[in-house]
Amino acid sequence: MKTDVLIAGSGCSGLYAALNLPKDKKTLIVTKSDVESSDSFLAQGGICVLKDEDDYESYFEDTMKAGHYENDKESVDIMIRSSREVIDDLTGYGVDFKKDEEGGFVYTREGGHSTQRILFHEDMTGREITSKLLDRVRELPNVSIYENTKLLDIYEKDNRCYGAVARFEDGHVESIEADFVMLATGGVGGLYKHSTNFKHLTGDALAIAVRHGIDLQNVDYVQIHPTTLYTDKEEERSFLISESVRGEGAKLYNADMERFVDELLPRDILTSKIKEQMDKDHTEHVWEDLRVIPEEEVKYHFPNIVRHCMEAGYDVTKECIPVVPAQHYFMGGIKVDHKSRTSMECLYAIGETACNGVHGKNRLASNSLLESLVFAKRAAKDIVEKYPALINDATREKSAELADGLDMEQYADQKAISKAYHKMVRERLGGFFIVAAADNTIETK
Ligand SMILES: Cc1cc2nc3c(=O)[nH]c(=O)nc-3n(C[C@H](O)[C@H](O)[C@H](O)COP(=O)(O)OP(=O)(O)OC[C@H]3O[C@@H](n4cnc5c(N)ncnc54)[C@H](O)[C@@H]3O)c2cc1C
Repeated sequence: MKTDVLIAGSGCSGLYAALNLPKDKKTLIVTKSDVESSDSFLAQGGICVLKDEDDYESYFEDTMKAGHYENDKESVDIMIRSSREVIDDLTGYGVDFKKDEEGGFVYTREGGHSTQRILFHEDMTGREITSKLLDRVRELPNVSIYENTKLLDIYEKDNRCYGAVARFEDGHVESIEADFVMLATGGVGGLYKHSTNFKHLTGDALAIAVRHGIDLQNVDYVQIHPTTLYTDKEEERSFLISESVRGEGAKLYNADMERFVDELLPRDILTSKIKEQMDKDHTEHVWEDLRVIPEEEVKYHFPNIVRHCMEAGYDVTKECIPVVPAQHYFMGGIKVDHKSRTSMECLYAIGETACNGVHGKNRLASNSLLESLVFAKRAAKDIVEKYPALINDATREKSAELADGLDMEQYADQKAISKAYHKMVRERLGGFFIVAAADNTIETK
C-alpha cells in the first residue's frame, strides 16, 4: 500500500490533522477500532478558549499552576493564542457550542480555572466536536479511513521514517509506504484496571517509539480523575462525573455525609484528598451531591450524566452518588517540538500520544481537546512546508525498497506483539504510580 500521509488514530487530533492537510495529498487513516471508539467522543466537560485578551494572564497562570510550573511555556502560549482560530474552525465545520439568547457563547468553569472560559455542548462536547470533524473528513475525496486496522510498527532508515506496518480488519498484515507518518493513537488508559479511557487505548505508538529509539518525555506523568461513578461491577471503563458538575456547585462528602474538601482544587490534589478520606473512612468511594445544583440546570447541562446514573440506579436529583478516582489522562508521551515533530524525521506525534510539555505535571481541565487540535494543525502545516525539501522520487524509491525488505514474519504472532508492547509501555509508566502531591503517592494498579 502507498499513501502520501499516513495517520494512525481517528480521534480529534487525527481527524483535524487530515482536514488540515492539502487536498492533493493522498491521506490514509488507520484506526484500531471503529471510528467512534476514541476518547475524543467521550469528552464531556468542554474545550477551553481565550475568550478575551484580558483573560490571557489568568488562563496562562491557571495552566501553569495546574502543571506545577513544569509546563513548556512556549507550548502553553501557542495553545492559548491559537485557541480562537481553532474554535472558529470548529464552528465552521458545524460544531454547536452552547449560546445565550443573544447568540453569544456561554462559558462554564472546571477545577483549577479561576474563571468561566470553557465552551461546551451539553455534557457531550467531545461527541459534538469529533462527530462533526468525522463528517467533514468523510467528505474529502483524498482521505480513506480503515477501521479495525492496527498500526503495528513503523519502518525507518538512518532515523527517518519511510512508512509503517498495519494489521487490517481481515487479519492480513501489510506495509504502507508513506512520505510522512502521524501518530495519533491517544492515551494509555487501557493498560489500567480502572480508567475512563477506552480499553483499546494501550499506548501502542509509545511502544513503537521505544522500539525505534524515538525520544519520550514525562512518561510517568499520568492523571487520575478525582470523580468517576463507583461500581463494584467489572466495567469496560469507568464513567466520568465531569469536573464541570463541581464547577456548577456539586459538593463532595465523606462517609458521614460532611464536606471534607474544596471541590475545585486541581485534579491531582483533589484526587489525593479523596484518597486520604477514603483511607480514613475505610471506604471504596466518597459521595458527590448534585442536588445543590438547580434540578433544571442539572438536567439541561448534564443529560448524559443524569441518564447514566439513573441506569446505574441513582437519581441525581434526589440522592448522592458514590464516586472514586480513576486513571484518566496521560500528560507524557512521545517527545515533540512545537510543530509536533518527533526525534525521527518525517514522523509526527499529535494528541494525547504526544508530549509537547503543554500540561507539565498535571493537565488543567478542558485543555486537552484544545491542545490536541492546536498541535495537530501545526503538524499538518509543517508537513506542507516540508514536502518540497524532503520528498522526491529517490525517497519514495527508498520507501518501496525498505518495505520490500521487511521481515513480515515478526508480526505474525499478534498476541505476543501486544503483550510485548504493553510490557514496554507499562515499565515506562513507572509501575502505575502517580505522584499526586509532593508528599503523597497514589497507587492506581
Ligand atoms: C471520559 C473522558 C472525558 C474527557 N473529557 C474531556 C473534556 O471535557 N475536555 C477535554 O479537553 N478533554 C477531555 N478528555 C480528554 C480528551 O478526550 C482526550 O485527551 C483527547 O480526545 C485525545 O484525543 P486524541 O486524538 O489524542 O486520542 P483519541 O481520541 O483517544 O483517539 C485515539 C485513536 O487512536 C486509535 N488507536 C489507538 N491505537 C492504535 C493503533 N495501534 N493503530 C491505529 N489506531 C490506534 C484509537 O482507535 C482512536 O481512534 C476526556 C477524556 C475522557 C476519557
